[in-house]
Amino acid sequence: MASPQKSGFGTHVVKVGKHTFGAGRLTLIAGPCSIESREHFLETAEGVKAAGASFLRGGVYKMRTSPESFQGVGPAGFSYVAEVKKQVGMPLVSEVTDPRQISDLANIVDMFQVGSRNMYNYELLRELGATRKPVLLKRGFSATVDEWLKAADYVIKGGNDDVLLCERGIRTFESKTRNTLDLGTVAWLKAHTQFPVVVDPSHGTGRPELILPMSLAAVGAGADALIIEVHPRPSEALSDADQALNFEQFEKIARDVRKVAHALGREVESL
Ligand code: PEP
Ligand code: MN
Repeated sequence: MASPQKSGFGTHVVKVGKHTFGAGRLTLIAGPCSIESREHFLETAEGVKAAGASFLRGGVYKMRTSPESFQGVGPAGFSYVAEVKKQVGMPLVSEVTDPRQISDLANIVDMFQVGSRNMYNYELLRELGATRKPVLLKRGFSATVDEWLKAADYVIKGGNDDVLLCERGIRTFESKTRNTLDLGTVAWLKAHTQFPVVVDPSHGTGRPELILPMSLAAVGAGADALIIEVHPRPSEALSDADQALNFEQFEKIARDVRKVAHALGREVESL
């Protein structure tokens, strides 16, 4: 069982079909910030698959700072999301923003994402503990590591051991980047906990030109997976357009990450 404070026992391996997190191989998760339409999701999924991703991301429910911003396609997207996944043969991680979404969303996701704004939503975490799907728990943008680990405990105590911790940047005094990607904490988590650790350099920097170098640094820090936002035409994205990468940029990351992983004796997961 994953216990947040034990060290020296290796990582608790999380399995999703034939995909594993924490067993040594590095997983590239990629896709749009928001799923916008059937055509958009299919084009994005095919593009990231061709570029080297083995797992899809994409929100159907979005937690947006402004209620005026695009809130996601919601249940209207369920049927085509399932079709696209089947067509490309890739699993999906997608955000659950409210406990009432869990049962329906479970039909189309392979892993639940808890967003940074919901890390302290203990009712949501408890309910996810009662499910049998892995939970990618993003760090609250002002959360200490202790608070984050205690949030993970809510899921585990509910009976679900399959929690992955996702570092997505924290709020600091620095304003050149959207957030400050805390890779020191990634190394700490790998040394002192059993959780698989995922790094999100998209939200962690908010800047396309920084996503490649921080992806490579994340591999060096010991990340088990990277989660990266990609859009066929980044400037047209309905959310997080400023940080979305195009297919070519993502492909370069996949290539360079593979080189760094190999240098460190690791493999990148393929489909
Ligand atoms: C996202 O993954 O699109 C997202 C909203 O992330 P975060 O919760 O880390 O802001
Ligand atoms: Mn986003």
